[in-house]
Amino acid sequence: MKNRWVYDKLYSQGATSLTDITTKIEGLNCSAGHALQQGLILGKTLASGSSIQEKALLDEGLRMLILHEVGHTLGLNHNMKASILWDEKDVHKKSLTKGILTGSVMDYTPANIAPIGITQGDYFQVKSGPYDLWAIEYGYSTALTDKIAEQQRLNKILSHSADKGLAFGNDADDMRPQVFILILEL
Ligand SMILES: [Zn+2]
Repeated sequence: MKNRWVYDKLYSQGATSLTDITTKIEGLNCSAGHALQQGLILGKTLASGSSIQEKALLDEGLRMLILHEVGHTLGLNHNMKASILWDEKDVHKKSLTKGILTGSVMDYTPANIAPIGITQGDYFQVKSGPYDLWAIEYGYSTALTDKIAEQQRLNKILSHSADKGLAFGNDADDMRPQVFILILEL
């Protein structure tokens, strides 16, 4: 029901309506489902007469959303900087991406639709990104009993913070309005 409501508002009032919708729903702090809805609308709209496979689009989109929400249950924050993993050309190469389009499933990633003349790659992220695995390793790997040794172990994990794929920026660096506009202008 909520998705149909969002769908209607998107066409009648534009992307700015989404901010209004989310602030009216008590306790809702994640709009990944709304972002996915937009990506699916975009993909389905462009699918007519193209090589876009609607079933794969939906399948990959739902897998991405599930990964995102499970990430929240494990304590992960949004990571709005993760989409810098690939440049605009490499993001369409399945041989490189292998189901990982961003550094983290906690980003709000739009549908990855290839421009005309470029072979379609992954539509959505369907595997955990390097940032997710790194954050989970920090939070969930087995702790050492010795406090000094444990701190050294954690510091070693943290020392990778500047590695490729581990970029982090949460809701304080919010870029959602720009992302929505990008989707609508494609
Ligand atoms: Zn979220």
